[in-house]
Amino acid sequence: MNTIEQIKVLSDMFGPSGFEDKVAAFVAEQLKDYAPEKDSMRNVRVEKEKDSDKPRVMLDAHMDEVGAIVQAVMPSGAMRFLPIGGWSMSSFPSSSFSICTKDGNLVKAVVAAKPPHFMNESERNRLPAVSDMILDCGTTSKEETEALGIGIGSPAVPDVACTFDEARGLFYGKAFDDRIGVAAMIDILQTLKDEDLPCNILGSFSTQEEVGERGVRINSRNLRPDVAICFEGCPADDTFQQGCMIQTALKKGPMLRHIDRSMITNWRFQKFALETAHANNIPVQEAVRSGGGTNGASINMQEGVPAIVIGVPVRYIHSHHCWCSLEDYQNAVKLGLALCRSLTPEIIAEL
Ligand SMILES: [Zn+2]
Repeated sequence: MNTIEQIKVLSDMFGPSGFEDKVAAFVAEQLKDYAPEKDSMRNVRVEKEKDSDKPRVMLDAHMDEVGAIVQAVMPSGAMRFLPIGGWSMSSFPSSSFSICTKDGNLVKAVVAAKPPHFMNESERNRLPAVSDMILDCGTTSKEETEALGIGIGSPAVPDVACTFDEARGLFYGKAFDDRIGVAAMIDILQTLKDEDLPCNILGSFSTQEEVGERGVRINSRNLRPDVAICFEGCPADDTFQQGCMIQTALKKGPMLRHIDRSMITNWRFQKFALETAHANNIPVQEAVRSGGGTNGASINMQEGVPAIVIGVPVRYIHSHHCWCSLEDYQNAVKLGLALCRSLTPEIIAEL
């Protein structure tokens, strides 16, 4: 499968946190030469050289995406729901979701908020809360909804098909956080499969990041990394920020984050990554963030493992409609490869 096709397939794939089975199966299939290991959370792990005593470089990307889950079916057939992961409430109304039935089929539903005609004054003047909204798949009774195979606990994801604009090198779709990272890691691991490297390379495809970096802890405990490189789809800021505050623009290369709410990046590793990018003429951006968090923090908090985050800029992350560029993706892959090839036991020992 070529790169563009693979990104489109991964973006379209159903996989909110806790329901990553399809993504895990796809990853395992693409990397079958590595004899991947899967656990009951559907984390996937690969290891380049089993039983090697070389330092262990773990690459990580999370397979889950933000979504929703049915909380209750109402007598009208419409559903109360809860968000899975961090959503802005203003992104929900009028958006379309695919609900997964118990047989694994997808049913289209719209998120409805009360029409203005039925609102009182205070409702008209505030943002809707999730408890004001419903998922409606066009049924007229609870029985009809349940007959579709939908009920309490049914998971849902944004209903969007990924497209790629060849002329502008732009993807439009959902779930680039973090399927773009998953795609990058598949590319990198396939490329490195038979290369002789100074370090052992481990692959961690983790679940449930969007609900609190859960799966990566199991991967990290199993793979016992000495250093880690996380591949992320990260929020682009170039349509909202000005001047020097633009730190993650589209088509300016992957972003290396010095700090966010969850982690202060090991500055020696960060410096090595920036120098490696510059030495290889790979464009990169640097960011200092007051919010956000990644799997890097969870890995870092386990035995203090130095972790960096390579983020591919994604506009309007955690929504249905995201832009992401092919060249940023390719530069993230190039940087990942350059780091895997240039990290040595001596460099790791000094981090
Ligand atoms: Zn993410």
